[in-house]
Amino acid sequence: MVKNSAYDVLIIGSGGAGLSLALKLADHAKIAVVSKFALNDSSTYYAQGGISAVFDAQDSIESHIEDTMNAGAGLCDPEIVRLTATKAKESINWLMQQGVDFTQQQTDDGQQQLHLNREGGHSHRRIVHAADATGKEVAISLGLQAKQHPNINLFKAHNAIDLITSDKLGEVENRVVGAYVLDTDQQIVKSMAARIVVLATGGASKVYLYTSNPDVATGDGIALAWRAGCRIANMEFMQFHPTCLYHPDARSYLISEAVRGEGGKLLLPNGQPFMQLYDQRLELAPRDIVARAIDDQMKKLGIDCVYLDISHKPAEFIRQHFPTIHEHCLKFNLDMTKHRIPVVPAAHYTCGGVVTDSHAQTDLPGLYAIGEAAYTGLHGANRMASNSLLECLVFADQASRKILQTLNDIPEPPDLPNWDESQVSDSDEEVVVSHNWDELRRFMWDYVGIVRTDKRLERAMHRVELLKQEIAEYYGNFRVTSDLLELRNLVIVAELIIRCAQQRKESRGLHYSLDYPESEQNLNPQNTILKP
Ligand SMILES: Cc1cc2nc3c(=O)[nH]c(=O)nc-3n(C[C@H](O)[C@H](O)[C@H](O)COP(=O)(O)OP(=O)(O)OC[C@H]3O[C@@H](n4cnc5c(N)ncnc54)[C@H](O)[C@@H]3O)c2cc1C
Repeated sequence: MVKNSAYDVLIIGSGGAGLSLALKLADHAKIAVVSKFALNDSSTYYAQGGISAVFDAQDSIESHIEDTMNAGAGLCDPEIVRLTATKAKESINWLMQQGVDFTQQQTDDGQQQLHLNREGGHSHRRIVHAADATGKEVAISLGLQAKQHPNINLFKAHNAIDLITSDKLGEVENRVVGAYVLDTDQQIVKSMAARIVVLATGGASKVYLYTSNPDVATGDGIALAWRAGCRIANMEFMQFHPTCLYHPDARSYLISEAVRGEGGKLLLPNGQPFMQLYDQRLELAPRDIVARAIDDQMKKLGIDCVYLDISHKPAEFIRQHFPTIHEHCLKFNLDMTKHRIPVVPAAHYTCGGVVTDSHAQTDLPGLYAIGEAAYTGLHGANRMASNSLLECLVFADQASRKILQTLNDIPEPPDLPNWDESQVSDSDEEVVVSHNWDELRRFMWDYVGIVRTDKRLERAMHRVELLKQEIAEYYGNFRVTSDLLELRNLVIVAELIIRCAQQRKESRGLHYSLDYPESEQNLNPQNTILKP
């Protein structure tokens, strides 16, 4: 055990990945978990569908592997896919031991068993779920367990600014020794020391104007790792969900694919359907095709949104099948039994991230990355639905094994220097931060969104360069705030996405370029790996 002011393991992020790891380590180590806002402000909390795992007698691990590899369009790491699919069942069992109450069904002989849903890309019923709010059930159960464990110290409203590495403290061998963290309640920056640091900070979808993700998803872990010298991979593969509610007061609300599955039609503002122009499967075409079709119509016609209409179905059917969505839309005076719902595609999932090995170790000794922040090789060029929560669980377990094996050999972290605020003052120009936030997310949406071209990427990169300079200057002169820290990270994430997209001279999976509309006929397609 290390001295009081420091921890064995500092976990940055309290989503499914971070809390799972904390619980797996806590009997043996002193843990700190920091989270930027409240404990449950995470994508995990909002996950609806579920977690993929082979439980059905007709299903097999081989089939789960095959489906995942197909979705990943040639870029999945076969060993990582096998590892993940193989560990899925034990991950679900572990969650149930933590109190997660998954939806069950009764078999013919009166036994209870897990109810399994089927989702796009999966060739079997394989989705373990808790009604239509799986993430909430998982987040609440893990949160409860973590709060009760005496070795887990939870710090809400703690925003990790940067990693601290031993080379900066004059040591020859470089490793991570902690992080600077802004306590936003007290407005002070703390130096938190640890033998091991884990990035469990989630994805980066907030880099786009429209996103299904909560506000935390600003890619902080990816930016922190990049600044600390770690490789980042495959950032061009951002997944867009086709239908997010478009309303000035509705933030980040996903309208599930099931609405289209049950007959919902996509319409232009004048009531015309348009999916027939893009795919024979119409509204039931795969996610990326529907998202591209909507984006194409929005750009061609200069419209702000399209509409999803299921009002031709009986009102009772709609209320029964979509109780949560129906209720949510009513808050905005939209009754989906009578009205069409305004929708836009929205950034949903970050397939790329911090490069890790099969035990979640990054390039920097002592630093791990798990969950959506990491690039493990599982998703390749496109994530299959419900594989992401699974990835959080499997790699939290992989990381815990390696950490417990090595922890005793890692020296206590040194005393860390205090954060230096002697050269900065309070900002009198917060408008610079809010303006740059808006500008960044808007040009990323317009130029680096669902459909890309070389010219658009070039334009976006030019703007990134300007913003980077302005933000660096602002960061150097003023006291840090959460908004500024996130903006500083978002501009790096934007740059990484653009650089990856510029390197890929083909369309593959989630990356689509009008200049290179075909996939390269390469038997050995390559991941895009960026080195700082
Ligand atoms: C609407 C929605 C529906 C989804 N549905 C599904 C589904 O059905 N099945 C599925 O498998 N996946 C689904 N996903 C994706 C899945 O939820 C995420 O990939 C997964 O939850 C990511 O977990 P995580 O622990 O990596 O990150 P998160 O759950 O996002 O947690 C990130 C944590 O990091 C913290 N953090 C971030 N930056 C900092 C910082 N600088 N300092 C301190 N803390 C920080 C945050 O506060 C948060 O606690 C869905 C996602 C969304 C948004």
